[in-house]
Amino acid sequence: MDSLLAAYSHFFSVIAFVLGAVVGSFLNVCIYRLPRDLSVNEPKRSFCPACEKQIPWQQNLPLFSWLFLRGRCASCGSRIPFRYFAVELLTALLFLAIWRAFPWEIALAYWLLVALLIAATFIDFEHFIIPDEITLGGTAAGVLASFILPALMQTTQHWRALLTSLASAALGYGLLWIVLEGGKLAFGKKKIRLEAPTLFSWTRVGDDAEFVVGEDRGLWSDHFAREKDQLLLHCDEVVIDGRNLSKTTLRFHYDRVAFGEEELVLDTIDRISGVVRELQIPREAMGRGDLKFLAAIGAFLGWRAVLFSIFAGSLLGSLVGLATLLIGKRVWSAKLPFGPYLALGALGWMFFGDVLVAWYVGLLNS
Ligand SMILES: [Zn+2]
Repeated sequence: MDSLLAAYSHFFSVIAFVLGAVVGSFLNVCIYRLPRDLSVNEPKRSFCPACEKQIPWQQNLPLFSWLFLRGRCASCGSRIPFRYFAVELLTALLFLAIWRAFPWEIALAYWLLVALLIAATFIDFEHFIIPDEITLGGTAAGVLASFILPALMQTTQHWRALLTSLASAALGYGLLWIVLEGGKLAFGKKKIRLEAPTLFSWTRVGDDAEFVVGEDRGLWSDHFAREKDQLLLHCDEVVIDGRNLSKTTLRFHYDRVAFGEEELVLDTIDRISGVVRELQIPREAMGRGDLKFLAAIGAFLGWRAVLFSIFAGSLLGSLVGLATLLIGKRVWSAKLPFGPYLALGALGWMFFGDVLVAWYVGLLNS
């Protein structure tokens, strides 16, 4: 009898792993298509991003195909990023770990959450956004899951679980919102009208630049967090590498500058200087997506997880930020996203939250 049970257990573990690999394969589709506003189910078959040829099912088996094709497209030979394999393996391993650690109905809900965490992480790393399908969709799914499975919110009552889940989502959104708005207050208004026309300069230093307005000087990269961030300078006069312009508005992105109909890549410019009257600076270190993402985490894991994810996420984020800066791996165009660290925090809570709470309660009672 025991050996039969053991056999069952192994059988279901294998199923969990294989299911994870298949879901990971679907997540790769989401990671590629969602931020590009492409449908995730149309076309049905996956296609190679390089030659756009459809990939037949026998070349689209999770894990195996990437290994078998040695990371290359079978028809055009272009590289298939290692990320595809990594996402499948990671999803498979986490599905297995969740299956072994939790009762089956909790495991089903956590599988869904972990899929959302993985998709959000890889999209955020690449595009600095987390799509609403994941964040808002995830919040709705978390609230629904909590209603069906009150144990997710540590209760046995369905309606109480639903309310706790909603409140936890609101807490996640609200706390990050305060941080975001607080940050704006602390760093001053977004739009700054200068008392008098002021000299400014932008000077290339390595792969960053020094940006000086009047007495204020700072690193160029410090002003940008997102690809879409825009810094506006309303200028009386401007000199771009020796070329004179009068009365124009410079519209900067972290990597380029536009004025009138023209656009230049900053990599090709050494120095911009001139006289500025008014500037508008992007101040959001966090995107709105992070707020909604934390709401989704709260909806699945409850309010304690929200607090823990912020704490662990900020800590991990600053450690990684510091480390990459120290070893010189970070370039100025590569800003750190926050989503992946929130996701790690949530994952940590999922597996070790109970242990942490028990430890903390023990501390209080000792
Ligand atoms: Zn191809």
